[in-house]
Amino acid sequence: MGKMRDKLKQYLKPGYYEKYDYHWGMTIDLDRCTGCEACVVACQAENNLPIVGEKRFKERREIKWLRVERYWEGEYPNIKLRFIPMLCQHCDQAPCETPCPVAATYHNQDGLNTQIYNRCIGTRTCAVYCPYEVRYFNWFTYKWDEPLEQQLNPDVTVREKGVMEKCTFCIQRIRQAKDHAKDDGRRRVRDGEVTPACVQSCPTKAMVFGDLNDPNSRVSKMYKNPRGYKVLEELNTLPKIVYLKKADSDV
Ligand code: SF4
Repeated sequence: MGKMRDKLKQYLKPGYYEKYDYHWGMTIDLDRCTGCEACVVACQAENNLPIVGEKRFKERREIKWLRVERYWEGEYPNIKLRFIPMLCQHCDQAPCETPCPVAATYHNQDGLNTQIYNRCIGTRTCAVYCPYEVRYFNWFTYKWDEPLEQQLNPDVTVREKGVMEKCTFCIQRIRQAKDHAKDDGRRRVRDGEVTPACVQSCPTKAMVFGDLNDPNSRVSKMYKNPRGYKVLEELNTLPKIVYLKKADSDV
């Protein structure tokens, strides 16, 4: 336990991730988001998420690594409709990581909150501790009817019953970009070379993804936008997604 505590303490030191090559982060501009959910569908297709069907949906067994939450601002008749895409915040002080009895969810050296499927024993403790409610449990082993199984992404594991899952920032694409950089004899991935499925599909370019260790990356510049805020920042989870509030927002 002492060792674990010491390990956690080093994550909290300012600049801990700067010694590593990458520190992936994202910004989502709510002024650009129209709530179209193209990002949701792209995530579903890229990461082999099952369509659970109406019955299971009503039983709250839906699996979505990215959801677009809808809420209202103001009082009728001066009421405004708002959207906020919600996905794993890849917190640098992730509350989901410490309670896992088998360390199936852990922080990798790129600052990603990762999930090891074949280590997960399905206690669902991590989901209880996640304040963003972005972890999803496989209550069943889902099947894709022929010929839909042919659309499965071969770079992504198809999860089985009893396994917890969540957004990975499309880690398979990060891996691929790193391999390309290595093949080209480059030490680092270029800014914009990694594009998660949600970022790629957004028609209004509301999402920006990149390396926070690179001060010249687009995401680093967007991070400094005065409209930026982090969801539930007061919990000190150090989320890595910065939301840019709507320009006409009162809150
Ligand atoms: S695709 Fe872009 S505009 Fe559409 S819901 Fe997602 S973030 Fe918003």
